[in-house]
Amino acid sequence: MKRTLPVNKNDYIDVVFEDLTHDGAGVAKVEGYPLFVPNGLPGEKAKVKVIKVNKSYGIGRLIELYEKSTYRVDIPATEKNKYGGCQLEHISYEGQLKYKENQVRQVLSRIGKLEDVVVHPIIGMDHPWHYRNKAQVPVGEKDGKLIAGFFKPRSHEIVDMDESVIQLPEVNEAIQTVKEICSELSIPAYHEESHQGVLRHIMARFGKQTGELMVVIITKTADIPHKNKLVEEIISRLPKVKSIVHNVNSKRTNVILGEKTKVLWGNEFIYDYIGDVKFAISALSFYQVNPVQTKVLYDKALEYADLSGTESVIDAYCGIGTISLFLAQKAKKVFGVEVVPEAIEDAKRNAKLNGIENVEFTAGEAEIVIPNWYKQGNAADVLVVDPPRKGCDEALLRTILEMKPKRIVYVSCNPSTLARDLRILEDGGYKTLEVQPVDMFPQTMHVETVVLMSRVEK
Ligand code: SAH
Repeated sequence: MKRTLPVNKNDYIDVVFEDLTHDGAGVAKVEGYPLFVPNGLPGEKAKVKVIKVNKSYGIGRLIELYEKSTYRVDIPATEKNKYGGCQLEHISYEGQLKYKENQVRQVLSRIGKLEDVVVHPIIGMDHPWHYRNKAQVPVGEKDGKLIAGFFKPRSHEIVDMDESVIQLPEVNEAIQTVKEICSELSIPAYHEESHQGVLRHIMARFGKQTGELMVVIITKTADIPHKNKLVEEIISRLPKVKSIVHNVNSKRTNVILGEKTKVLWGNEFIYDYIGDVKFAISALSFYQVNPVQTKVLYDKALEYADLSGTESVIDAYCGIGTISLFLAQKAKKVFGVEVVPEAIEDAKRNAKLNGIENVEFTAGEAEIVIPNWYKQGNAADVLVVDPPRKGCDEALLRTILEMKPKRIVYVSCNPSTLARDLRILEDGGYKTLEVQPVDMFPQTMHVETVVLMSRVEK
């Protein structure tokens, strides 16, 4: 029998928003049926128009706000900034922090069944704007001029953008300037549908501590028209530039970077620091986009690891070794594991760059490499994990429970999988002692959390 839904398309209804979706829309419930309404905030009462109904959820448009949230900021979320990844720009920073902290608390209790765990107040930024050190923007054409910005969601239409409120000014300036130069030189944009044209993306990366700028030009074609003039103009108009790189991506794909990379001018790397640790960043390297808060997060991880210099530590999902190099300063030896071989190459380079010798990096899947180590008799006193959104692999969690490290430090970018994994570890003999959310990405829905667990002696 067909279930009738409590709302129909084109209905006007009054709702109260209870929550936010992962992309920042308000969630209201009509007899249990969720309605997602862009721009609605938890606690607000509003009139909405139902514009779409699916079996399990509907979509509405905000028509009138009867009661505003005290956290609403009176600049409405502009389309541009939403596309640019600022889903929460219409909420005051205080409201954003409160929302994120509550989310961690609720999920740990609902999914993790961790009722009595202490969640510390979230650590936010003093200045939650202009923090991103990297941008990569698609290029298109409109009215004979180049535009660069963001794809509209679920579309191939590019929205031009002069400035992003979350990018560092140097990054905004670099993107704008390169766009202007390419426009002046009549370098054609790439057209996704016809797979014709030249310029696909412009990327800029900036080392905030060193003041070094990298510009990456990504084209479909192996050559760039007016290449020498382009380089000359970039050097003259962007004095902080230390590296200009050309990347060729000739495939029909949504992946931004292609396989061929060539330095057009300057160095292959720019450098930056997180704390005292120096990092070499190439066009293809992964590097944290908010180094200020990365330092805050990793200092906490280090504090929770509570190292005295005698410990053997495993850093699982180590990326370019950021946490490993932090930990190495206080540990006897750190073993980093990461699945992307290029990231492991970066990690090794970074260890050398800093003269850190008590680290060893291995490329492979954490859930295969670490169980193998354990079988060969290698166990860690302290284990750090920083997995991707899907959380830790079950096989890894099983090995951790057999290996029985004294402490586990869990760094997570997804509270739901964190809560799931903490429950498994609690059931296997660990206790969650500290939970510290950190705001790494202000104006967006993302929240990072670092957790300390300790082995309960039995
Ligand atoms: N701690 C890192 C970032 C971690 S992000 C840093 O500070 O740089 C999560 C990392 O896990 C990514 O680098 C990703 O490539 C890696 N990864 C994903 N699946 C993995 C697996 N099964 N085994 C090991 N690493 C994995």
